[in-house]
Amino acid sequence: MPGNFYSVRCPDCENEQVVFGKAASEVVCAVCGNTLVRPTGGKATIEGDVLETVEQR
Ligand SMILES: [Zn+2]
Repeated sequence: MPGNFYSVRCPDCENEQVVFGKAASEVVCAVCGNTLVRPTGGKATIEGDVLETVEQR
């Protein structure tokens, strides 16, 4: 099963960024460096606001 991508809005600067839902490493905001995705071994925890799910086709 392919992982999903999520469109996430940074809670600090409102930058929108597409992140992978099963990220193995921390994903930070490209603008302010805030942590958007925290890997938890398996499914990642998304720290920002998820705007939409972008399914890989
Ligand atoms: Zn930010």
